[in-house]
Amino acid sequence: MKTKSVVKVMPKQHTDDSIADLMQKLLLKIGEDPERQGLVRTPQRADKALRFLTSGYETDVQSIVNGALFEEKCDEMVVVKDIEFYSMCEHHLLPFFGTMHVAYLPNNKLIGLSKIPRIVDMFARRLQLQERLTHQVAETLQEVLKPKGVGVICEARHFCMMMRGVEKQHSGAVTSAMLGAFRARKETRDEFLSLVSHRNHPFY
Ligand SMILES: [Zn+2]
Repeated sequence: MKTKSVVKVMPKQHTDDSIADLMQKLLLKIGEDPERQGLVRTPQRADKALRFLTSGYETDVQSIVNGALFEEKCDEMVVVKDIEFYSMCEHHLLPFFGTMHVAYLPNNKLIGLSKIPRIVDMFARRLQLQERLTHQVAETLQEVLKPKGVGVICEARHFCMMMRGVEKQHSGAVTSAMLGAFRARKETRDEFLSLVSHRNHPFY
């Protein structure tokens, strides 16, 4: 199959093989026939899908937050909860997905609420560990806003657990990152937890 056109439109490709070329080899490796009808365009589709799922490498924080930071006298907790995300586990290249709850205690600086899910997506669309994803979101808000504190809770289910090996389909993992007041003050942490705990759980 000719896949040269794929290479042409992907100028950042550093190796001779495009992702589509590699996908075609992968199909052969697992015993498939890449020429059969259903698979003829699969390498290109998978190439495109994988580029989208890892597009977070090419996004930077400044381009997201530019023009969306506001000076405002405000010191009440801001919470954005139930942010859906989809990521890829770096150990198995299988998806993990779930929800994230993000809060910060402003220090007279606010960020446009819609920017928080975009920051989550920026880090989720990379090869990840749930723990690192959680921390990266927290640390980015800490850097950008210099707030009194940041709290992030992430609940996820991993295809590598659900589909292979242990096959525990209903087990989820919860990770958290607490910075500043969220780490130091139990009252702040409790307020955050109470704000995010009464909700429709996405998994059950
Ligand atoms: Zn995994």
